[in-house]
Amino acid sequence: MIEEKFDAIVVGAGMSGNAAAYTLASRGLKVLQLERGEYAGSKNVQGAIMYASMLEKIIPDFREDAPLERHLVEQRFWMMDDTSHTGMHYRSDDFNEERPNRYTIIRAQFDKWFSRKVKQAGATVLCETTVTELIRNTEGRVIGVKVDRAGGAIFADVVVLAEGVNGLLGTRAGFRETPKAESVALAVKEMHFLPEEVIAQRFGLSGNEGCVIEAAGTFSQGMTGLAFLYTNRESISIGVGCLVSDYARTMESPYALLEQFKNHPSVRPLLKDTEVKEYAAHLIPEGGYKAIPQLYGDGWVVVGDAAQLNNAVHREGSNLAMTSGRIAAEAIFQVKSRRDPMTAENLRLYKTMLDESFVIKDLKKHKDMPALLHTNSQNFFMTYPQLMSAAAQNFVRVDGTPKIEKEKATLSSIVKARSRFGMVSDAVRLAFAWR
Ligand SMILES: Cc1cc2nc3c(=O)[nH]c(=O)nc-3n(C[C@H](O)[C@H](O)[C@H](O)COP(=O)(O)OP(=O)(O)OC[C@H]3O[C@@H](n4cnc5c(N)ncnc54)[C@H](O)[C@@H]3O)c2cc1C
Repeated sequence: MIEEKFDAIVVGAGMSGNAAAYTLASRGLKVLQLERGEYAGSKNVQGAIMYASMLEKIIPDFREDAPLERHLVEQRFWMMDDTSHTGMHYRSDDFNEERPNRYTIIRAQFDKWFSRKVKQAGATVLCETTVTELIRNTEGRVIGVKVDRAGGAIFADVVVLAEGVNGLLGTRAGFRETPKAESVALAVKEMHFLPEEVIAQRFGLSGNEGCVIEAAGTFSQGMTGLAFLYTNRESISIGVGCLVSDYARTMESPYALLEQFKNHPSVRPLLKDTEVKEYAAHLIPEGGYKAIPQLYGDGWVVVGDAAQLNNAVHREGSNLAMTSGRIAAEAIFQVKSRRDPMTAENLRLYKTMLDESFVIKDLKKHKDMPALLHTNSQNFFMTYPQLMSAAAQNFVRVDGTPKIEKEKATLSSIVKARSRFGMVSDAVRLAFAWR
């Protein structure tokens, strides 16, 4: 086993771990990265939209060889009842730019590429190696890790915990609590394969253009949750995720919700004749700002999903993971350059820098949204989508009923379902939580 001491050990080779390991190694630090999966990405699940500007800050020329599927030119948001969807679509040719802003990716391929970059930057990457424990000295400072290989102990000045949402090291060490059921969503996802030209025709795309659909509505049975459908080059990623506490309350199964979404009349034609080749399930941290744990301590920092850095409102995770990994590495590099010890006092720099970034600013802005959506899930994910569908249908159906009567009928169904006071109160709470 490895005898020498490292400047840094990075646990995990997902988005955050690769960002941290690459940034540290490319600045000349001696880095060991440990990943329990057979290869980087083998255990990772994502929709997946990847946000270019966050990766550009780490690997500016990534477009030259990264495995990118499609760049996104169209975003559809759907509110659904059982038979209809009311949509807002945004499509712009501006996204056909030289350096596109968002891409779909397939994590297994993307993480492998990122891991190659980490190795090229000089880090030692060991896969099929699970970190089982953190090693601490008599003062409690983390000085290394134990792994499930013969020899077992490896030492470093600092350990970067990039172990993902259900990583056990940090919780076992008492650095953070196990995520609460109301703070994590369980998402299930399938990959449906289709010829490239059929995808282009079905979604009105040309070349490498891509389209994504994100949806809320009755398929989640009143639970806090969303569905997504993303176009890759020769496949469609489709999935549904809801809060774990809601599954426990309703005893609904995630697979049943996904089936319901797939069989919705607005979705079924998009999946016609597809071949399903992959299936995955994974947790997503959704507690937001209030669920962020302690981010640093003596000899350690925590990044990405393990630190709950996920913006559920905007459905962003990988960009917060990459950014927190990069910033943690830059902070460690600064401490190292000053020849200071990796104490909590010095590693506080990571939090100071993260507080100044979009990561914490965005999560702070939406700090009350997770609780609002969770406690009002029946209204936001069932009643309002149903009312919106009924109102839209009433508006477009022409049947000889005078418009004044139609409008009165729509208004009275809204008041009956939610009451005037209920609606005003939802609107005010939503506006306050959003501001
Ligand atoms: C269904 C789904 C769809 C999503 N869609 C999007 C999207 O479209 N866009 C977006 O930006 N985000 C999306 N996300 C969120 C995004 O996937 C995460 O925010 C991101 O992957 C977090 O990266 P990470 O490096 O923190 O964790 P992970 O990617 O989970 O990586 C953690 C790594 O640590 C390893 N590990 C854990 N414990 C140990 C150990 N003890 N020893 C060694 N290795 C260990 C794991 O094997 C894993 O490789 C989605 C998530 C899901 C589940």
